Amino acid sequence: MKRQHLIIDADDTLWENNIFFERAFEEFADFLDHRHLTREQVRDVLDSIEAVNAKIHGYGSKRFGRNLVETYHRLAQRPISDADLEQVVAFAEKILEHPIILLPEVEETLVHLAERHDLTLFTKGHPDEQQAKVDRSGLGRFFSHVGIVKEKEVGVYLRLGEERGFHFPHTWMIGNSPRSDVNPALRAGFNAVYIPHPRTWILEKEEVQPVETAQLLHLERFGELREWF
Ligand SMILES: [Mg+2]
Repeated sequence: MKRQHLIIDADDTLWENNIFFERAFEEFADFLDHRHLTREQVRDVLDSIEAVNAKIHGYGSKRFGRNLVETYHRLAQRPISDADLEQVVAFAEKILEHPIILLPEVEETLVHLAERHDLTLFTKGHPDEQQAKVDRSGLGRFFSHVGIVKEKEVGVYLRLGEERGFHFPHTWMIGNSPRSDVNPALRAGFNAVYIPHPRTWILEKEEVQPVETAQLLHLERFGELREWF
């Protein structure tokens, strides 16, 4: 195979991410202890707040903390003290302290891919928070470029391709999110590899939409990339 440009997502593609947010939500729901709403209903309120705020403020654990606080203000059934709010923020802050848990076969697969292709790590979120994860993962050495952006949309992929001099037929976006990885990359003219993660964040989910002009692979595991590239 000719040398390809492989653009690889990070959260829930290379390492666990959303499970820590889910864990923080569980702690929050216990603390809120709502008398009438189910956990799912509390989750729905948080999701709707997140959907609005993500468009304005982006992603990351700090933003998640503020969304939890907003949810708490909306749903709390007791007088709200400063100590309560600090506790709510602390649930989100703990996300930053988790050690990086690489997904299975990631490291050996990156060794294989980096020997044969040009790798770009491409992630969205808070720049410092995402860079800290890259640093802590020890995976930075496999990538010729790390891009951290606010949102992964069609135009952002086009700009990345232009800036990095990627030729579209030889460029692939690899990731777990239909909304941020697969669909916008396909619409930008890149090929795509969809590797679903069972605990993908609800706001990243949508139908995968193949296009006629680009190739789309659907793999079960990151390690399968070695059979294709
Ligand atoms: Mg992801």
